[in-house]
Amino acid sequence: MAEYKLLTKDFGMDGIQTLAVYERIGGYEGLRKALRSMTPDELVAEVKTSGIRGRGGAGFPTGMKWSFLPKDVHPRYLCVNADESEPGCFKDRALIDENPHQLIEGTLIAAYAIQAPIAFIYIRGEYHDQRLLLERCVEEARAAGYVGRDILGSDFSCDIIVHGGAGAYICGEETALIDSLEGFRGQPRLKPPFPAVKGLYGKPTVVNNVETLSNLPHIVLRGGAWFASVGAEKSTGTRLFCCSGHINRPGTYEMQLGTPIRELLEDECRGIWKGRSLKAFQPGGGSMQVLLPEHLDLPLEMDAVQRAGSALGAGAMVFMDETTCMVDVSMRLVDFYQHESCGKCAPCREGTYFESELMHRLEAGALTPAELSTLTDICDNMNGKCFCPLGDTATWFVMSAYQAFRGEFEEHCGAGGCPVKRRHAAMAVA
Ligand code: SF4
Repeated sequence: MAEYKLLTKDFGMDGIQTLAVYERIGGYEGLRKALRSMTPDELVAEVKTSGIRGRGGAGFPTGMKWSFLPKDVHPRYLCVNADESEPGCFKDRALIDENPHQLIEGTLIAAYAIQAPIAFIYIRGEYHDQRLLLERCVEEARAAGYVGRDILGSDFSCDIIVHGGAGAYICGEETALIDSLEGFRGQPRLKPPFPAVKGLYGKPTVVNNVETLSNLPHIVLRGGAWFASVGAEKSTGTRLFCCSGHINRPGTYEMQLGTPIRELLEDECRGIWKGRSLKAFQPGGGSMQVLLPEHLDLPLEMDAVQRAGSALGAGAMVFMDETTCMVDVSMRLVDFYQHESCGKCAPCREGTYFESELMHRLEAGALTPAELSTLTDICDNMNGKCFCPLGDTATWFVMSAYQAFRGEFEEHCGAGGCPVKRRHAAMAVA
């Protein structure tokens, strides 16, 4: 199982961002097929058959998510979550840059399945160029009759609105995204009610990720059963993995789910750089727990990685070589979460502040062993006690790194600096 191209097969093609080229390679045929030969219920059933699970992080089955919408409550809305902000994650940007019409077609298919008259693409504020590209593509699609009233002569009408965020990580959480779309400060809402019941403007709403939706034209054209035959039994299809860190060939690679992580690292990323060895890696971006070299033979499969104590999350693989200080990495991630905490609940707002203070002192070698246990107490008092997952995830990497590299954390106490960096600097001089 090597790299497997489904979503990325047309990446790099000249003019693929234009409607003319996208149509020439069969673009919008999935939408045409859905509108002409499938009822919305049949479409939902087809997506359930495909077994596709959300690619945004939680991995919830997409067809099942759609079927939670209450019958006969209208209007319903579709929100496309393009607020990609997970540290190490850049796959949605690649999907928009390299094949924007694939996403627009998938969005229209999903809108038809749930009978949404409007779909909002909520795109991260920093993705300015991608927002302009999507706006241009939506206008092209509208002029060709794919967006707007009575699409392709059917009785289905749907408009697409591209909405830029303002640069807050928390707006990737679906209820904060909805708050932000409504014009409020983006903060998570209490669940239940879930967005499927009471979402945007108080109406049933589905929030789907860019990669999830980009798969839909392929599922419709080739069938849910075909899609389910690709990948692993409970993790069907392919996924895009954003690979970064200490590797020879960073980039975004589409892999068939079920492929061993080692194959991704050795064949696509060309191994760890500078002839060094792997110390640790994060399989799902900044939020996820650290894994070790012994986990490289795990399959790229959501449940298998979860059983090993981490998660594939949003598909961001960050590899760290033997010179990496795990305290330093933990400190940087905690700083990120402290900055991005929305401030709504005390365990996260206060907890990330104290976590960050202690991590900075630990990395500087100025923490006592007693204060190190305060750090773990703070994490214990955050995990599972915050209003939304951001607060929990602000502790996951730190605690997993502490468990796996406890000696390294303890070695920092009272060391008057970072002992790991000191050691590797001395080796480099020698
Ligand atoms: Fe906001 Fe953090 Fe509380 Fe989530 S956990 S609601 S981000 S303060």
